[in-house]
Amino acid sequence: MQRIVLLGPPASGKGTQAARLSDHFDLESVSTGAVLREQIAQGTDLGQTAESHLDRGELLPDELMNDLVASWIKDNGPRFIFDGYPRTEPQAVALVELLKQESLGLDCVIGLKVPKSVLRERVTARLSCTKCNHVFQIDEDEGVTPGADCPDCNGGTLYRRDDDNSETFELRLEEYARKTQAVEDYYARLGQLLAIDGDGTPDEVFSRILKQLSQCATNNE
Ligand SMILES: [Zn+2]
Repeated sequence: MQRIVLLGPPASGKGTQAARLSDHFDLESVSTGAVLREQIAQGTDLGQTAESHLDRGELLPDELMNDLVASWIKDNGPRFIFDGYPRTEPQAVALVELLKQESLGLDCVIGLKVPKSVLRERVTARLSCTKCNHVFQIDEDEGVTPGADCPDCNGGTLYRRDDDNSETFELRLEEYARKTQAVEDYYARLGQLLAIDGDGTPDEVFSRILKQLSQCATNNE
């Protein structure tokens, strides 16, 4: 496995699984945030254009996002796990076309499937640390509650982020469904989408992914 795209709604455990896949296959897990920070830090034209959009509080246009990703692949090589890109169908098409120019393709597109009720439960039970930013699930028995000391660092306090409430969750889920569902549909048409049941512990989900990844390899032959 050299090129994986990971798709899933907010709180589907995408970030966690991306990190595990990254360790397992020795691939860099790449978020759009990381791509952006790299370009902005390097002061490239693309980075500056992106920054001006962000300063105005705008989302990046598809074309700019695609150029940023193309530039990342050129600098770092065509080995990656993308987490958070592609976010729209035009981005999904652009990634496939870009790789095609190098006679390459994606090895697998993993779509994490988690029931909405489980996602909502996860989001509203999420606590963040004021100091180390680690995220925890509320656990009354273990004393993981709002206002408690952080179990991971010295001096941090656990709190609920403003955007971790049901209303914001509904909006984020709706936005995901509106845009990113088309990305899943596109890869499904190409026969590259591997739907994985994402309801369970990180260990359970990861072993499901590993078990089913071989299906991607056969699809691509
Ligand atoms: Zn902490």
